[in-house]
Amino acid sequence: MSITEIIRRKRDGGELSEAEIACVVDGAATGAVADYQLSAFLMAVYFAGMTPGETALLTMAMARSGAVLHRSGTGARRVDKHSTGGVGDKVSLILAPIVASCGIAVPMISGRGLGHTGGTVDKLESIPGFRAMLSLAEVERQVAELGIAMAAQTEELAPADRCLYALRDVTATVESLPLITASILSKKFAESLDALVMDVKCGPAAFMRNRTDAHALAASIMDVARANGLPCRTLITRMDGPLGRRIGNWHEVCESVRVLRGEEEPPLLMEVTLALAGEAIEAGGAAAPGEGAARARRAIADGSAWETFIRMVEHQGGDVATLERAAEPPATVVVRSERAGFVAAIDSLRLGLLSIGLGAGRRTMNEAVAPEAGIVVHAHLGEEVRPGDPVCSVANGRGRGAIDPLAFRACFTVNDAPPPPAAMILQALR
Ligand code: URA
Repeated sequence: MSITEIIRRKRDGGELSEAEIACVVDGAATGAVADYQLSAFLMAVYFAGMTPGETALLTMAMARSGAVLHRSGTGARRVDKHSTGGVGDKVSLILAPIVASCGIAVPMISGRGLGHTGGTVDKLESIPGFRAMLSLAEVERQVAELGIAMAAQTEELAPADRCLYALRDVTATVESLPLITASILSKKFAESLDALVMDVKCGPAAFMRNRTDAHALAASIMDVARANGLPCRTLITRMDGPLGRRIGNWHEVCESVRVLRGEEEPPLLMEVTLALAGEAIEAGGAAAPGEGAARARRAIADGSAWETFIRMVEHQGGDVATLERAAEPPATVVVRSERAGFVAAIDSLRLGLLSIGLGAGRRTMNEAVAPEAGIVVHAHLGEEVRPGDPVCSVANGRGRGAIDPLAFRACFTVNDAPPPPAAMILQALR
């Protein structure tokens, strides 16, 4: 089968057969198809799309491109949560230990940063010593012992997605409904879950910019998941302002530590985290319908979520003393407001892109991220500022160029009146 012919057919809007899709997926997993051809294929899918049937075939071919986790141990229900990607989105770091502390098994396989959005694995790896590259056998053992593992995709698990994900990140082909569906679900099918909770982000800083696109992605994910035996609940959540006050890998870990210890409750972040954790807890059978979010709150209040997180980090080689100190790197530049008023909008897409320039994300496939690079948002949506007040401070990664404070200030719109309050949970699909 000619890969060039497959690319041409997709480019021209044709519907690919199971064999053609398998040819691309096998080529990605084994390295038999060159990166430049895979990149061209991704761009063809980006523009021409895929039918629901093609999307399902792509997903299952990617899921079968590697090994799957075997269920072992306690017999607890296995639930995971996945997000389509946001700015300052540290929900997984907080949610996974909350859910595990309720007696639900959480085998969480996450990705690295993608486009302007951060990745859970990059965040976890900013904890000195933390090992995210676990073998599947290690993930299985740890889930049986501790009830939780947070790991990166290894060669063994959905290797086709590993390759395609990295290429999408650097070829501007992330924002594609079939590619996102297949990427997410290929990993989730390999985790042998009882239920999946999806956070489909919607807004100017999400891959899905409006409700119609977000709903289409949610429906695509739920259809493919359910048709293949995986119960799935989805929340469509707002993604405009950053979630919490921190953007950047170590910065976000520090903020998550303070949330898990009950020291901080950043409102937008808490609303989304508790809602998603509640869904996961209910799906895992540890709370009655409508009571999951309250159960999640209790797991923070009684310290069990924080203890679970510490135990997991220790088990995966992370330096617990550094984690407990949660000391953030000093700011390189403080960006100040020029005028008085209320923060009416934050351009989080732009902030996410600027954070890549600082070193918090990748410009090329193999670039290392700088754990210390990040942004602290001092003036969040709706908050009042006076002239000269800090709106954000910025920490550059080692070896990165000078910071342009004007570029950061331009991300904050200050108006005379505060913006109207807006709910973070736009829709729940169950
Ligand atoms: N998360 C993934 O794993 N893949 C995507 O394509 C987007 C978010």
